[in-house]
Amino acid sequence: MARKAPGKQYRKGITLIQIFEMFPDDATAEKWFVDVRWSNGVHCPECGTDNIQTNAKHKTMPYRCRNYKECGKKFSVKTKSVMEGSKLGYQIWAIATYLLTTSLKSVSSMKLHRDLGVTQKTAWHLAHRLRRIFENEDQTYSGIVEVDESYFGGLEKNKHKDKKLHADRGAGGKAIVAGVKNRDSNKVAAKVVENTKRKTPHDFISDNVEEGSVVCTGDLSSYENMKGYDHQSVKHRVGEYVDENIHINGMESFWRVLKRAHKGVFHKISHKHINRYVTEFERINLKSISANKIPLAKNNWDLLLNCKNEVSILNVFGNLLRN
Ligand SMILES: [Zn+2]
Repeated sequence: MARKAPGKQYRKGITLIQIFEMFPDDATAEKWFVDVRWSNGVHCPECGTDNIQTNAKHKTMPYRCRNYKECGKKFSVKTKSVMEGSKLGYQIWAIATYLLTTSLKSVSSMKLHRDLGVTQKTAWHLAHRLRRIFENEDQTYSGIVEVDESYFGGLEKNKHKDKKLHADRGAGGKAIVAGVKNRDSNKVAAKVVENTKRKTPHDFISDNVEEGSVVCTGDLSSYENMKGYDHQSVKHRVGEYVDENIHINGMESFWRVLKRAHKGVFHKISHKHINRYVTEFERINLKSISANKIPLAKNNWDLLLNCKNEVSILNVFGNLLRN
């Protein structure tokens, strides 16, 4: 039987083998990062000039700014990016980024440690730096949005005295995460909050949602009496009339994926770092994302940029290199 031509999604994906062919060594990967970051030629990350000496002999800082009077800094493509100060090679950065951006349930530092042949400590720092890529988007949501809260972490009574949080008693020592999802774009913003007292959810909503929007929430009483919004609470009681637009199914499925990963991948997310994991999952929630759907090949970008709901690897690397 004749094999069908690969579908659109198949063509958009890239295999692990192709990744290693793309980045066979550090020099290739470095060139790739340089091309992505400075498609119009190398610019000084400090002062912005394109008057650059490119053949500097320095082992790790191959460029030097020629704006000697005001700047004159030596730099590399790692400078002023999340790679700054890292001794890891470009090949590892490229491949780790691929692994982290194409795994639906994310990747644990243990797996990175085994797959990349770096120490677990290094892998842990690498993963945390990469997660910073996803921490940028400051945006507000409008239209119909879903707001919900969820609880993560162990029970307070099982913890050692030093580890107890003395947080909101209702949360039983678990971390409380508040989340908001835009119905149209499927985008989610979520963050750890101190408690579920009235002011906290209201502040979370006014920080993230434009006034005049329809806000669907669960039936937690703290959401009541919101000013400036069309608030619709979803009553979970049996027999309640359900308007098909008034639900928080999107947020609930976001929590489910995050909880599965929490259990299956990270095992234990410390309170200190939970915000980063949450941020990474905001990205994963974008509906069309699944393993292998994110093209990494540069020549796929045009195609990719036309796909609205997909996280573009160009954005990912753009953010990687921005900060
Ligand atoms: Zn400069």
